[in-house]
Amino acid sequence: MIDFSLTENQLAVRDMTREVASKIIIPNIAEHDRAQTMNPDLLPAMADANLLGFCIPEQYGGLGMDYISLGLASEEMEYGDTAARVILSVHIGLFSLPVLTWANEEQKQKYLVPAAKGEKIATFGLTEPAAGSDAVGLLSTAVKKGDKYIMNGEKMWISLADVADYFLVFAWTDLEKKKIRDHTGISAFIVEREWEGVSTGAIHGKLGVRAGNTGFIAFQDVEVPAKNLVYKEGAGFKIAMFCLDQGRYTVAAGSCGLIRACRDACIKYSKERQTFGVNIEEHQLVKQMIANMEAGYEYSTYLWMKAGWLKNQGKRSTRATSLAKWIACREAEASSANAVQVHGAYGFSDEYPVERFYRNSKGASIYEGTREIHTLMQADYALGFRQDKELERDLPPVEQE
Ligand SMILES: Cc1cc2nc3c(=O)[nH]c(=O)nc-3n(C[C@H](O)[C@H](O)[C@H](O)COP(=O)(O)OP(=O)(O)OC[C@H]3O[C@@H](n4cnc5c(N)ncnc54)[C@H](O)[C@@H]3O)c2cc1C
Repeated sequence: MIDFSLTENQLAVRDMTREVASKIIIPNIAEHDRAQTMNPDLLPAMADANLLGFCIPEQYGGLGMDYISLGLASEEMEYGDTAARVILSVHIGLFSLPVLTWANEEQKQKYLVPAAKGEKIATFGLTEPAAGSDAVGLLSTAVKKGDKYIMNGEKMWISLADVADYFLVFAWTDLEKKKIRDHTGISAFIVEREWEGVSTGAIHGKLGVRAGNTGFIAFQDVEVPAKNLVYKEGAGFKIAMFCLDQGRYTVAAGSCGLIRACRDACIKYSKERQTFGVNIEEHQLVKQMIANMEAGYEYSTYLWMKAGWLKNQGKRSTRATSLAKWIACREAEASSANAVQVHGAYGFSDEYPVERFYRNSKGASIYEGTREIHTLMQADYALGFRQDKELERDLPPVEQE
């Protein structure tokens, strides 16, 4: 039975991340968004608050919190700004949790521990210039030569590309399987920024997530030690899909933070702005937009919490996570469009935060599975073309108080 009440520890995580958002992110987010720069205080503040590994077990340098806590933290960070939640998504969702689940003990000690302690930052590189939704269309290769793999290729649209120390990268190790698009020819590797042949750069002029870094990573004859192969050759696609199950979860919960930010901004503004002799909160059509935000927030929250509840038990949650991500992102997009509408012309300028919400909301319907990909997934589950089977490995269950 799903229990929606929060434990003391979960409430403490929520309060702590809310404080980071209100003290570190919100006071100068407009400035960073406009300048398209990352807030230099944010990563140190997240590390200080143990946020960069708080749902990783204590034995690997984390705080051992559960997945509902990760959802709550994602919501609070995105209430501050989407770019802040993206850090949790890539560092924890797309790197640390997969490394915890699929990597060997030596790799965990070397990469997971510093990531969980916030000493090193990590991200995930699957997308390439010519392959996003169609991940099997990636072109990067890692050809075995003795005790190394020689990696070549380019990753594109990678969050924190210019910032991260470690990259979880996917490349073809079986070139015959590449020719016939057999995904069992793809493998996963942990790559370090400092290695020769690795270079990164930022993408400028983005519609949203402007206070965050997004860029490319290029690999030119990079010598990746064979011991940096994650799990085994050919498991890369499976690991990538597992990564997305965790990343998408944070996007779903984060979107609830964005919906809440839209709702709060609209409540404040509608009590200040007058038309036709009354506050606009009196107009039924304005009320309807706020009511829709309220409803979207509530049911999107139930959806990510259901996915978190499955994850806490170590159960496969692909269907629940995809549904939560699809619906929460849809509601965040609708809420932010309506938030601009409620603010009239003022919503059209960066004097108010809602135009940033509107721009930021769009990205989440594209990354970690586009709106169309999640629509297709849900149809395929309903039609019986797809089902959640047990993986060889799933998230380790978390003991609840
Ligand atoms: C801000 C941001 C951050 C990102 N961060 C990362 C990151 O950290 N790591 C990473 O690996 N990637 C990252 N991405 C990339 C992201 O995951 C991809 O953009 C996404 O998977 C979509 O791929 P694409 O952009 O190539 O679009 P395409 O796959 O080319 O899709 C184009 C359009 O066609 C539609 N479409 C495609 N296939 C189908 C189909 N079968 N049926 C119906 N419609 C279809 C899509 O829904 C979309 O509307 C990020 C992207 C953004 C915008």
